[in-house]
Amino acid sequence: MYYRNCVQELRERILKEGRCFPGGILKVDSFVNHQMDPNLMFHIGREFVVRFASLDINKVITIEASGIAPAIMVGFLLNVPVVFVKKKAPSTMDAQYTSTVHSFTKNRDYQVCVSKEYLGPEDRLLFIDDFLANGNAAAGVLDLCQQAGAKIEAMGFVIEKAFQEGGKMLDRLGIPHFSLAVIESLDDCQIKLAD
Ligand code: 5GP
Repeated sequence: MYYRNCVQELRERILKEGRCFPGGILKVDSFVNHQMDPNLMFHIGREFVVRFASLDINKVITIEASGIAPAIMVGFLLNVPVVFVKKKAPSTMDAQYTSTVHSFTKNRDYQVCVSKEYLGPEDRLLFIDDFLANGNAAAGVLDLCQQAGAKIEAMGFVIEKAFQEGGKMLDRLGIPHFSLAVIESLDDCQIKLAD
């Protein structure tokens, strides 16, 4: 399978294909958020697995929708199940944990939930998501895990926007986290990557 260096490729594609929107939003619809590149995604998964190799993980957790692709690659490589937090409770879901998350891109609050069947005190989780911005999705997932008595061992993000607060919040909470590509600024619609 084609493999150069996934971090390098990710950085190049962000610069080449990324589109900036007002309010510090970056769209990478051609390979992450709409159309997806499974080859790149596989290597992103591999990079996370290498990075978090020392952790004893029994499950990967993510939040729908764009976190699912990188999370499933990590789950595949670690041979553990992947549970995704839902943004809408299905009528068929009985016992569930719920939390409220503020969406940065849509600027509204929404309820998220996960079935009690798939999250419990025995779980040692790796949270994977496409973006880290202000850390609201991460905080919502942490809340669900706390309710379940489950432990988040670490978090991995494909892209982090370092000019927002999520990374600092996770540092304050003492949660190990790692991002493959870090955006320093999107000022004047120029994508500036951190070294
Ligand atoms: P946070 O919860 O950390 O504020 O934002 C992360 C979540 O919002 C991610 O799940 C991601 O889907 C979405 N998000 C935040 N910022 C961006 C962005 O610049 N571009 C895209 N495509 N999604 C974002």
